Amino acid sequence: MSPNGLDAKTFFEHEGGGITYNDFILLPGHINFSLDEINLETSLTRNIKIKRPVVSSPMDTVTESGMAISMALLGGIGIIHYNNTIEEQVKEVRLVKRFENGFITEPVVLSPDHTIKDIDVIKKSYGFSGIPVTEDGTLHSKLIGIVTKRDIDFEEDRTKKLRDVMTTQLVTAPAGISLAEGNKILKESKKGKLPLVDKQGRLVSLMSRTDLLKNEDFPFASKNKDKQLLVGAALSTHEKDRERLDELARAGVDVVVIDSSQGDSTFQIDMIRHIKKKFPHIDVIGGNVVTAKQCKSLIDTGVDGLRIGMGSGSICITQDTLAVGRAQGSAVYHTAKFSREYANIPVTADGGIAHIGHVVKALSLGASAVMMGGLLAGTTEAPGEYFYEGGMRVKKYRGMASQEAMERGGGKRYLSSEDRIKVAQGVSGTVVDKGSVIHLVQYLMQSLLHSFQELGYKSLQELHKGLSEGTLRFEMRSQSAQTEGSVHNLYSFKEPHLGFLRMSH
Ligand code: GDP
Ligand code: 5GP
Repeated sequence: MSPNGLDAKTFFEHEGGGITYNDFILLPGHINFSLDEINLETSLTRNIKIKRPVVSSPMDTVTESGMAISMALLGGIGIIHYNNTIEEQVKEVRLVKRFENGFITEPVVLSPDHTIKDIDVIKKSYGFSGIPVTEDGTLHSKLIGIVTKRDIDFEEDRTKKLRDVMTTQLVTAPAGISLAEGNKILKESKKGKLPLVDKQGRLVSLMSRTDLLKNEDFPFASKNKDKQLLVGAALSTHEKDRERLDELARAGVDVVVIDSSQGDSTFQIDMIRHIKKKFPHIDVIGGNVVTAKQCKSLIDTGVDGLRIGMGSGSICITQDTLAVGRAQGSAVYHTAKFSREYANIPVTADGGIAHIGHVVKALSLGASAVMMGGLLAGTTEAPGEYFYEGGMRVKKYRGMASQEAMERGGGKRYLSSEDRIKVAQGVSGTVVDKGSVIHLVQYLMQSLLHSFQELGYKSLQELHKGLSEGTLRFEMRSQSAQTEGSVHNLYSFKEPHLGFLRMSH
């Protein structure tokens, strides 16, 4: 055994079977810098750079606009799933593109002829009751008043028209002001709502006092040159999804992910060619792939990024069912190495990130970013409702090729979708409530900074250089080494903050 571990080539390029994230440990390096000197910026694709190497998976229990907005604010990116109609997917993309942090860009608006009863209905279904009133009851019409709780709390006659109860002495601000300016006006005015209006006095958006605390600045937010958040969307390889592509392009999608469990197919190659010809400005992530040969096939066709993983997802039964796939550690190492050397194409390690340590392991094997499903599921921003199971508050999390998702139109990534008998390649289950994804990812990124420091690398580029030059050192972890490296021999113990992240497996 080497006193200082092994370099990646010696460790991974031998005939000894597939290596998973749990099979190895990274050995520490030399620390000569502080955490704030570390830069986690990375390339998602040939043309898209993001400040944080995290991506949310295109799954119907993981990424719709709420998740994609949060991921982009945090410096990563979300990929909107396509287990929906074209209109539904496009709507989610638009919501992300139109999002302005702290501003409610599509507030619910009423006209003076609506009644208090209408506000009661809104309060019941949306939970808020501060409603701007415009001349014709639509956004972009002249703002004439606002109705808040205090205007209607004690009014017994709920059929009264809003014109008779609304406040007309308004504090407004001009549309186009910055978040900081808006927050300042809100604080100083002591009002609950701040309508933003254009020069003609037409309502453009709304700010809410209750959001003051949430209106953080997100210095790492992933944005395009027009200051819109970046967003991706998934597509299948089916020819009919060319129409979906047209609509996504119109909505301003930044990157499309061709969602297929086995990416090296003529169907995918045809789709990549089509996209690159029709929309050369949209980056394409191809996949999924796990071998160098598959990568070559897609790189030669023109992909801008690759998605790596087959059968390593937490909800996935592909390896057991079809006996095809690859251990994720080996898959990431070999594909990342090939893609970098062959054409400098970044790879995203997709699936199998069961806890925080797996993120740094994926990056240390050459991945430029990690894509997560299960780890982000169960957060407030993930689609779906919470419910109780065995006394725990949970949300549903399911494979896109689970029987349940395929019945809803999923399974398009598995070529069986036109078959009469659908073979499930995933399961449907639940995950515990993890609170807001904002806090979860911030925690994840902070711990990633600590990992980089322990390893002695100040950036992802340095880490990858260490990987190829052999300064990054690896060691095999026996079963007992894994037991030793986890909590053991305690009668009971308390998980650290967000400790449930370590519980899966
Ligand atoms: P209200 O005073 O009853 O309107 O409710 P709060 O101000 O306490 O909470 C409103 C919450 O709903 C804030 O977090 C808003 O950002 C959010 N929200 C989302 N869409 C809208 C909308 O169209 N109108 C209002 N008033 N709030 C919205
Ligand atoms: P996780 O982060 O939960 O470990 O894995 C998420 C990844 O699993 C997804 O990004 C996707 O690549 C993969 N996946 C999603 N649904 C299914 C499925 O039903 N079957 C299989 N085999 N993989 C899936």
